[in-house]
Amino acid sequence: MAEQLDEMYRDIIMEHYRFPRGHDKILNPDITKEGRNPACGDEIEIRVKMDKDKIETVSVDCAGCAISTASGSMLAEICEGKTIAEVKKIAGIVKALLKGEKFDKSYDIGDIEALQGVNKFPVRVKCALLSWTTLVDAIDAKQTGRQLTASTTEG
Ligand code: ZN
Repeated sequence: MAEQLDEMYRDIIMEHYRFPRGHDKILNPDITKEGRNPACGDEIEIRVKMDKDKIETVSVDCAGCAISTASGSMLAEICEGKTIAEVKKIAGIVKALLKGEKFDKSYDIGDIEALQGVNKFPVRVKCALLSWTTLVDAIDAKQTGRQLTASTTEG
C-alpha cells in the first residue's frame, strides 16, 4: 500500500515507520490506554505523562502496519508539551484531512500533512486514526473519571 502513495508523503511516512518517535515506554504514566484496529490487525498502547493540563510526554507502543505506526510516531512528536485543548484540535485536523474534509490550514501540523495521502485509501484511514482516537478517548476518560477500556476504530 505504501508504494501507492505520492512519493513525498511516502518518504515522510516511511521515515516515521522506521524510526518511530515516542517508542520508549513511559515508566510511570498518568494514563495508559490500548487501542485496536481489527480491520488491519493494528494494536497500540499509548502512555501519557501529564503536567497539569499539558501533555509532558507520550509513548506509543505500536504493533501494526506502516501507516498506524507512522501516525502514532507523528502523534508522539507533535503532542509533547501541548495542552489538552491543542491536542484535541490537532486530532480534529487529522480526522478531517484523512476524510478529505476542510480543516484549519493555518495551524502547523508538521509531518502530519503527509497523512493526507492516505485519504485515497479508505481502508487505511482507520489505521491512521487509531492512535489519535485512542489518545483522545484516554484523555476524555481521565477527565471524566470513566473506566478505561480498549479503543477501537471499528464501526
Ligand atoms: Zn493498519
